[in-house]
Amino acid sequence: MTFKTLDDLGDLTGKTVLVREDLNVPMADGMVTDDTRLRATVTTLCELADKGAKVLVLAHFGRPKGQPSEEFSLKKLAAPLAHVLGRPVSYIDWEGDKAAVAALSSGAIAVLENTRFFGGEEKNDPSVVERFASLGDIYVNDAFSAAHRAHASTEGLAHVLPAYAGRAMEAELKALQKALGAPERPVAAVVGGAKVSTKLDVLKHLVSKVDHLIIGGGMANTFLAARGVAVGKSLCEHDLTGTAEEILDNADKAGCTVHLPYDVVVSKEFAANPASLRTCNVHEVAADEMILDVGPAAIEALADVLKTCRTLVWNGPMGAFETEPFDTATVALAKSAAALTKEGSLVSVAGGGDTVAALNHAGVAGDFSYVSTAGGAFLEWMEGKELPGVAALEM
Ligand code: ADP
Ligand code: MG
Repeated sequence: MTFKTLDDLGDLTGKTVLVREDLNVPMADGMVTDDTRLRATVTTLCELADKGAKVLVLAHFGRPKGQPSEEFSLKKLAAPLAHVLGRPVSYIDWEGDKAAVAALSSGAIAVLENTRFFGGEEKNDPSVVERFASLGDIYVNDAFSAAHRAHASTEGLAHVLPAYAGRAMEAELKALQKALGAPERPVAAVVGGAKVSTKLDVLKHLVSKVDHLIIGGGMANTFLAARGVAVGKSLCEHDLTGTAEEILDNADKAGCTVHLPYDVVVSKEFAANPASLRTCNVHEVAADEMILDVGPAAIEALADVLKTCRTLVWNGPMGAFETEPFDTATVALAKSAAALTKEGSLVSVAGGGDTVAALNHAGVAGDFSYVSTAGGAFLEWMEGKELPGVAALEM
């Protein structure tokens, strides 16, 4: 995978750069409640401004479906972005944008209005691509999290302007390349979370890519059921046991070792610290019990598997980690992975909304080699799909 980066750009005085960022942040009462995505823009935006460019930020916000509205306006994000950047940020509406851009001085940063106020943005309509392209000389895509969509601002622009990966995009692509593109072996994948059905393509792809596939979370129950284990009242997709068997067969053929839990934490009710809590062998789950976490013996064995590996990719928690003590396995395995990463024996890459929350809960997100906050794009990458926004940057 080769693409141009900001290293390939010299002095940008007199140039206008269109930068696709992800400003789709959660908000409540007009306040940004999590500014992770804003912080991810800092390196690229400041570097371009320092090189003398007029910097225009292109982004979507929510789902306005081609209808301009106050609710989905990006105007309200200029101030929070300025706060995070530590420099002024102006806002430019789609009315009179040309004149507003012309009036900017070298090194200025401005947020353009929501790209999705154009219905053609999501259709990658050439006239919308042209509309955006007419404002700038250079295109920088810094939003990996939007790269699984072929939209005008995420894909189309790369074909009509000289295109570069921003610093956040570059870091994400390098980390992902290291984890699954050309990883050091052995490679382990941890796949957990609620349901098999949401991650079938991930599992199918991974068995041909990794040496160890560690299955945990609710989805492990479907695999256990496929192997004839009675899982009681556990979350289980019984209609998918056939598919689970197929995945296990394919893993076998590909030489991928699948690790399913052999002890589990069960309870009769799904509540914090329930009276009926107990740990048992997977073959001893009662009809009125549900599996809510992987057991301690299995986790110890999994930590030993990680010790033999050089690369780890992780999506999905091992248990219902939001409720104590069902966070135990996730926290323990996350700590093992973090320690091995710190020692320098493991490259660890993790992603997924709940996975990131679980790693933060375990207090180890900062110790992983790379944590992706990209959600959908991260999952599609784990499925082995080509992301259109990334493909368009390739030289
Ligand atoms: P991600 O967002 O990281 O991709 P998912 O959304 O696939 O992860 O899965 C996360 C959810 O899976 C969490 O809400 C967690 O409570 C749930 N989960 C994990 N293990 C179990 C289990 N054994 N039973 C029920 N739910 C579970
Ligand atoms: Mg989730």
